[in-house]
Amino acid sequence: MSTMNAIEIHEFGGANVLAVREIPKPSADSSHVLVKVEAAGVNFIDVYQRTGLYKNPLPFVPGMEGAGTVEAIGESVEGFAPGDRVAWCMTTGAYAEYAKVPTRVLVKVPDAISLDIAAAALLQGLTAHYLVRSSFELKAGHTALIHAAAGGVGLLLVQMAKALGAFVIATTSTEEKAALVREAGADHTILYSSQDFLEATRTLTGGTGVDVVYDSVGASTFTRSLRCLKPRGMMVTFGQSSGPIEPFSPLRLAEYGSLFLTRPNLAHYLRDRQETDWRAGELFASIEQGKLHVRVDSTYALSEAGKAQTALESRGTAGKLLIHPGRI
Ligand code: NDP
Repeated sequence: MSTMNAIEIHEFGGANVLAVREIPKPSADSSHVLVKVEAAGVNFIDVYQRTGLYKNPLPFVPGMEGAGTVEAIGESVEGFAPGDRVAWCMTTGAYAEYAKVPTRVLVKVPDAISLDIAAAALLQGLTAHYLVRSSFELKAGHTALIHAAAGGVGLLLVQMAKALGAFVIATTSTEEKAALVREAGADHTILYSSQDFLEATRTLTGGTGVDVVYDSVGASTFTRSLRCLKPRGMMVTFGQSSGPIEPFSPLRLAEYGSLFLTRPNLAHYLRDRQETDWRAGELFASIEQGKLHVRVDSTYALSEAGKAQTALESRGTAGKLLIHPGRI
């Protein structure tokens, strides 16, 4: 039996459960291809799956995003061939030398885009895409408040929101990160670690409030984010980097101005091949045309997966973290 190196989680817990193990190399079948993984993206969802906040059956190989080269395809697989450069997200298994990937989540990577950039862009880029195009359709004239704007999703979201003509107010924790956010195009940055972002947003909007808040921070920002909105504004809560939001009464939405609230998940915005191809096509085209810049913060070896996730959790990063499973 041939084997490979992979991170395999046998129990939920801290970063120490991310140990390299030698496990059987998977193979392709009628609906999956076998990919040699060049780069795996590190995402907050990997942390939630590691700790058990999102429960996967144990054991499992983590890593919800990757890019690499197709090594083998199953008999009835159509549209992909050995040698194709591909990327995927929203299925586990990327923290490994080889991944068995369902064709339904696989996209081809244009020649002009490196596999590192593809792995860095896909999950967070598709997320930013559905947030501005579908959760709330941003248009010129809208004002958006974007939290954690120097993060992986954040930097892409700011650039996409600006490209659609919105006025962007963005929060982040340090001046260094704020400089990156302004470089990405934000009109105003607020250091929400030392400044009251509600008061600052009200001042910046002349007391009117914003049309939409994109909030991935969760517990520490949620209630004040609602109060940043205009009457009938849209609250998009799409993450909980500071912890899960406490249960609350829908009556609060009426009190704060008949607000709308959505808690979306990328999986529901990649419903079928057509929707995935549309979003990935627009994402890759904007990277190829130099309209969207993907910032890679740092790259880790497979055995450093725990270090990578700890870095993401520690708020010290700006942009994307990658793992190269070929380096043990
Ligand atoms: P980020 O790179 O944005 O990292 C998280 C950032 O959150 C930190 O850098 C930090 O930025 C900010 N933050 C604020 N408070 C805390 C805290 N207490 N602990 C840690 N971080 C904090 O991560 P990603 O881009 O990978 O993901 C961002 C969020 O989006 C995650 O919550 C993730 O789950 C969610 N997400 C949701 C998806 C969906 O479809 N629903 C899809 C993809 C991601 P700062 O220092 O500036 O405060």
